[in-house]
Amino acid sequence: MELKEIAKDIYACLQEDRGFGWNNAGFVNLGGGLAIDTFYDLNLTRQMIKLYKTISPEPAQRLVNTHHNGDHTWGNQLFKDAEIIAHRLCAEKMKEEKKINLPAFLLSGQQNPKAFPSKLKPFIDAMSEFDFSGIEITLPNHLFEDKLDLDLDGYPCQLIYVGPAHTPGDIIVYLPEHSIIFAGDIVFRQCTPVGWEGTHAKWIEALDLVLSFEPEVVVPGHGPLCGVEGVKELRGYFEFVYSEAKRFFDEGLDPLEASKKIDLGSYTKWNEPERLFFNVNRAYREFRNVEPWDAPYNAINLFLKCQELRVHWDGK
Ligand SMILES: [Zn+2]
Repeated sequence: MELKEIAKDIYACLQEDRGFGWNNAGFVNLGGGLAIDTFYDLNLTRQMIKLYKTISPEPAQRLVNTHHNGDHTWGNQLFKDAEIIAHRLCAEKMKEEKKINLPAFLLSGQQNPKAFPSKLKPFIDAMSEFDFSGIEITLPNHLFEDKLDLDLDGYPCQLIYVGPAHTPGDIIVYLPEHSIIFAGDIVFRQCTPVGWEGTHAKWIEALDLVLSFEPEVVVPGHGPLCGVEGVKELRGYFEFVYSEAKRFFDEGLDPLEASKKIDLGSYTKWNEPERLFFNVNRAYREFRNVEPWDAPYNAINLFLKCQELRVHWDGK
């Protein structure tokens, strides 16, 4: 974990992308302190807060969640006195995960793997470095719809809704004075993106909005810092995968078969290229044009299909 100053008073808290759940966060040391996202478990989030304390001894007065996924929000409880800001649909999804107590489910999988079907082992293994004990999903207490302007002691900060792209409640944090964007999971850098709910069109629109600001620095949700080149590369990936998926959809192949046929070229160098399956599967949902953008899905089954794709590639 590294705290990197990207402009005066603006910090990115970076974790090396090692697969699912290794995300980035941020801190703006103005206006009482604004934290952007948390990490996946309490230990990692405590380490992050410790780093922020080296900048400012007082706890951040505000926390923004860029979207609901646990890697970005399951440390919220450690900001208990803060104003926690998110999009309304981010809060809705967090409520659903709180209701089923998703952290406890994952924890039980780690503690008692034998009680889980053996086919789930790769999924549980992928989470093995996180400690899901003690997590109480803590909902945002300040919701907004399209845009929220924050005044950090005269320093402008814009929260802009760009979903549903990666999830229903995606937002970006734009700091116009320094031309910096904390993109949340709208930008994955040198690692394969995952589309959950949302649409291809909205994700492209979100990337185009990021590009329209001509940011100097983009803090991706996952992977190293970048400028506009990283955003363009991701846009290129989506356009490529979408058109390839359409070709194989028209030929009648299922999403896994299509994923096996797609030649990823240089995109195979991105971490976890097998997550291609998520994107192909989501494209197929759009081509069928029957299910809504937030149609229910079984995340574990999708993950296991990615593993099948990996095994297929490894066997070639
Ligand atoms: Zn993420």
